[in-house]
Amino acid sequence: MQKNIDSRAKIARLAFVSSDLDRHSEWRGQVETVQKLADDPDARFVGILGDAVAGKGDKPDYGRPQHMGESIFLGLDADGHPWFAYAANESETLALRPLLLSGSLPQTELSRLAQARSLVHWHQSHAFCARCGTPSVMQDAGYRRHCVPCGGDHFPRTDPVVIMSVEHGDAVLLGRQASWPAGMYSALAGFMEPGETIEQAVAREVFEEAGVRVRDVEYVASQPWPFPASLMIGMRATALSRDLTVDGNELEDARWFVKSDVQKMLQRSHPDGFYAANPFAIAHVLISAVVDEPSQE
Ligand SMILES: [Zn+2]
Repeated sequence: MQKNIDSRAKIARLAFVSSDLDRHSEWRGQVETVQKLADDPDARFVGILGDAVAGKGDKPDYGRPQHMGESIFLGLDADGHPWFAYAANESETLALRPLLLSGSLPQTELSRLAQARSLVHWHQSHAFCARCGTPSVMQDAGYRRHCVPCGGDHFPRTDPVVIMSVEHGDAVLLGRQASWPAGMYSALAGFMEPGETIEQAVAREVFEEAGVRVRDVEYVASQPWPFPASLMIGMRATALSRDLTVDGNELEDARWFVKSDVQKMLQRSHPDGFYAANPFAIAHVLISAVVDEPSQE
C-alpha cells in the first residue's frame, strides 16, 4: 500500500470523513441518560429538512428548536456537548450541497450534518414495519425502529457504492453522465449488489458501463455520502486493454485520457475545458492516486 501514502493528505480534505463525535452507542438504550443529554443547556440540535439543514443567515443553526418531535442522539463533541438530530420544518434552511461547495464549514461539522441527514432520512422513509406494514416506533435514541405487533426490529441502512479509477499504462478511464455540466468527467461508480464482494462489484460495474475487463482491484479510501445514505467505497483497478464499449444508458460517454491531461483536468486547466471531480469528493482522490505516480507498465 506504499502508493497510497501520498493520497493521505488528499483523503483528509474529503467532505464527511472527519467525524469527531464520540457516538456512545452504550447510552442509546438508556432512555433517562439520553433525556438528560437532550435537556443539557449545551446540547446542539441539527435540524434536517430534505437535503437542507436548519439555518440562520448563511450558517446552520444548532439551537434548541421550539417544536422538535423525536430526536436522534448523534454523540458528544470534544467539549462534551451532546449533539442531536431532528426532522425540521423551519422555513429557513440551508441546502447541504451549496454549503459543501462553499467550504465555509469545518470538516468535523460537515460529518455531523452527514450523520444527521442520513439518519433523519431513514426514519422518514421507514415509518412502517417492512415485515407487517404496521407503523413502527423509534428506539435506541434513533438507531433502531421497533414494530410492537410483530416484534420486528429495523436498523438504519447504509448503501454501499463502489467508485473506482481504472488505469492502463499512461491512461485513465473516465466517464460522464448526460446530466453533468459540459466538460465534466469522473470515476465510474455503481451500487453494490447483494451477494457480491467489493472487488466483484468493481469488475462488474466497469464492464457494464464501459465494456472494460479489470484486474488488481485494490481499496484506496471510503467516504460517507449523505444523499441520502451512501458509503462510497473508493477503489482502483488496472484494465486488461483499452477497448471500450460504452453503455449509453448509465453513461453518456467514457474515454481514456492520458495522465498528463487528467492532471490538468484535476487542476481545471485543461485547454479544451475538460475537468474532473472536486477535491471534496472521493473521485478526486482516486483519480489523483493513479495520475500522481509513474506509470506501471
Ligand atoms: Zn411488524
